Amino acid sequence: KIAGGLQKTRRVLGTDIRDLFKSEGRLVDDDFLGELFARLIRTDMGTGPANKIREEVAKQYRGRVVHLEEVIQTITQEIRSQLSQDHGELAKNDSPPTVVLVVGVNGSGKTTSIGKLSHYLHANGHSLVLGAGDTFRAAAVEQLTIWAGRIGCEIVTGKSGADPASVAYQTVDKAIEVGADYAIIDTAGRLQTQSNLMQELQKIRKVIDKRLPGAPHEVLLVLDATAGQNAISQAKGFSEAAGCTGIVLAKLDGSAKGGVVLPIREQFQLPVKFVGLGEGMEDMAAFDPDSFADALLK
Ligand code: GDP
Repeated sequence: KIAGGLQKTRRVLGTDIRDLFKSEGRLVDDDFLGELFARLIRTDMGTGPANKIREEVAKQYRGRVVHLEEVIQTITQEIRSQLSQDHGELAKNDSPPTVVLVVGVNGSGKTTSIGKLSHYLHANGHSLVLGAGDTFRAAAVEQLTIWAGRIGCEIVTGKSGADPASVAYQTVDKAIEVGADYAIIDTAGRLQTQSNLMQELQKIRKVIDKRLPGAPHEVLLVLDATAGQNAISQAKGFSEAAGCTGIVLAKLDGSAKGGVVLPIREQFQLPVKFVGLGEGMEDMAAFDPDSFADALLK
């Protein structure tokens, strides 16, 4: 699945790296290493991660003539090792429900990601209750209600403009009442009122913890893979205020810059847990660094 979503990135990076090897092999010198670096950063992987790859290639091959396959193998291994902490597993509360709060800037793909994640959990035999905590965006509530209908799970919605914290509280309450495995709660993502939003997120956390001590067990930050470095830096404030525990990288299929997973890992110090690979119900995959690294180049 990840391989499918990374087609665009692979087309660019794979071609770029292959282009470095016009003849039989190439001498690894400063010229080669510079060209390699330039091609790597075209995938948005950022200078830090690209530098580490360049250094690894230099360490292994400097002064030698290398072949394409050797270099691809080294790059793949280095990417794997940079992402080795990432995994597609959700935290789990010892006794259900596990409460998952989902945060992210509007338009990042948050509602769709909640729908896909819910479908994923449901398809794996888990029961769940959704909470439409973005009470100011009627469209978000509607969209989430449609997802709940498709999946066949309960959803808690407040009146338009209701206190998001109260919807969050009721969602956890409902999940406890019906014995659901998961409560998955949407939140608002209006960036223009950032400080209010941070307070709102903190209040939601407090209220959830009051209903179920220790909750939320997971706070997922949804990022748009096509949004570029600036948007991602903006989301950092979000991540810190909300106490995020993992990342969902949406729209990876729409981007030729799938390398962005690497700086995200580096900047947020949070595991990428899921990747969005399209708009359909099935278009999400639990993140796996090995398949990711393989799919980038092969
Ligand atoms: P929200 O405002 O953050 O809740 O964003 P939405 O979930 O409404 O998504 C915004 C747009 O991005 C919609 O048109 C979605 O269909 C689309 N979208 C979300 N996730 C993905 C994905 O993984 N791949 C693609 N191609 N589109 C996505």
